[in-house]
Amino acid sequence: MVIAVQDYRLGEFHSFEAGGRRFVYLPSGAVFEIDEATQSLLDRAIDGNILADDEELIGELHHARILVTADDRPELPQKPPADFPLQTLVLNLTNQCNLSCQYCYEFGADKVATPEGKPKFMDLETAKTSVDFLLAQSQGHRGIHITFFGGETLMNFPLLKDVVAYANTQAAAQGRSIDFSLTTNATLLTPAIIQFLSDNRIGVTVSMDGPPDLHDKLRVFANGRGSYDIIEPRVRALLENHRTRPITARVTLTSGVTDVVRIFRHLKHDLGFHEIGFAPVTTSPNQLYAIGAPGMNSVLDQFKALAGEYLEYALRGELHGFSNVSDTLSELCQGVNKSHPCGAGLGLIGVGPSGDIAPCHRFVDSDAHALGHISTGIDRAKQSDFLSRGHIDSKYDCHTCWARPLCAGGCHHEAFVRYGDTGHPNLHYCDWIRDWTATCLHIYGSISVHNPGFLEHFVQRKAA
Ligand code: SF4
Ligand code: SF4
Repeated sequence: MVIAVQDYRLGEFHSFEAGGRRFVYLPSGAVFEIDEATQSLLDRAIDGNILADDEELIGELHHARILVTADDRPELPQKPPADFPLQTLVLNLTNQCNLSCQYCYEFGADKVATPEGKPKFMDLETAKTSVDFLLAQSQGHRGIHITFFGGETLMNFPLLKDVVAYANTQAAAQGRSIDFSLTTNATLLTPAIIQFLSDNRIGVTVSMDGPPDLHDKLRVFANGRGSYDIIEPRVRALLENHRTRPITARVTLTSGVTDVVRIFRHLKHDLGFHEIGFAPVTTSPNQLYAIGAPGMNSVLDQFKALAGEYLEYALRGELHGFSNVSDTLSELCQGVNKSHPCGAGLGLIGVGPSGDIAPCHRFVDSDAHALGHISTGIDRAKQSDFLSRGHIDSKYDCHTCWARPLCAGGCHHEAFVRYGDTGHPNLHYCDWIRDWTATCLHIYGSISVHNPGFLEHFVQRKAA
């Protein structure tokens, strides 16, 4: 029997080819390889000639939301339960910094922090209370993380050492362990600090923007002097002597600093970082260092070039080091379907030197965004408001977007800087996000056809 299925239309999936096979990426976050019968039906659907003789197939495609009817509504992830466990604590040990990077979200023109009258350095009592809070709020979960942040994190290294000792003791008493990491500008690294970081398996991310001519454009001291010469020997010492964890470089792309491939080559091959991640600056478009559309197009082209290299490496079973691809592959392997773009205010909180709780490190010291104080805990009404506005349910523009399982509207902080509302979808970069997601899906599909064992790397890897 031939069934007229003109009541059906295509759902919001993304269809792609990889490794000589056809796949669909579904709004549930799942990736399926599709057979010829399905492809043929989809092709006819695209032509508007939706006739089929396979009722079972149509039923399956409807069930998977590849075909939908007028009565179907987007299936969005549920709101997380009120007792969602805390997994990551970001401790901003200080709000002081010895550099004056013009694009810094903490000190630059777009800053949301209001640190006036608040402590500049966190004290031990506040840090201990924060650790206790993390342990109490994550009961039953083994994988918990403390990330040290600033300002410049190492300006309060004595506290960092004390926190590691205290947290390890408290966790061990509960039969648990804690994973530590920090972000630094590398200016204050010493052999003793590097030894401590290595001995304690503390993951390190260095903020670095490439070779001297690019790095020194904006990563400068207060007198305008570039910081490359200061950090280069320290970074080399870190890479040589920190033996227990991969070391990552985090690059902020700005107007004039968009030479992605050259930056990658320098950081990976000249210096020896294990992984390099890139992020365009988060800023309002009228800042001089904002990247305009032509710059972002160039960034995307270069991302794709590096992604192509990544695939070649992966098919040989080798790690390439371009973490923007690895992070997305991790999420695809985990089948994520995000209710929120990230863990901010949910499984992750930031705590500032004053003890104020923020949704993440970028909102630390901002009175407008505080979610309580560490001595009294999370203000559940404020948290609920933040999470409701940031939930995919509230972002109507995203409901028909196939990239939403991974994007979910994008960074709350960027949304606030751009639109004045943490819950606004970041609509200025949708085409870019979809293009990049399609690139990563192609890589995922190609690896799954030709070297599926490589994806084992990502099954347990937690996306950044
Ligand atoms: S912000 Fe744009 S790309 Fe992201 S989910 Fe929403 S519509 Fe899609
Ligand atoms: S994506 Fe944005 S809101 Fe989320 S943790 Fe990162 S900076 Fe914070």
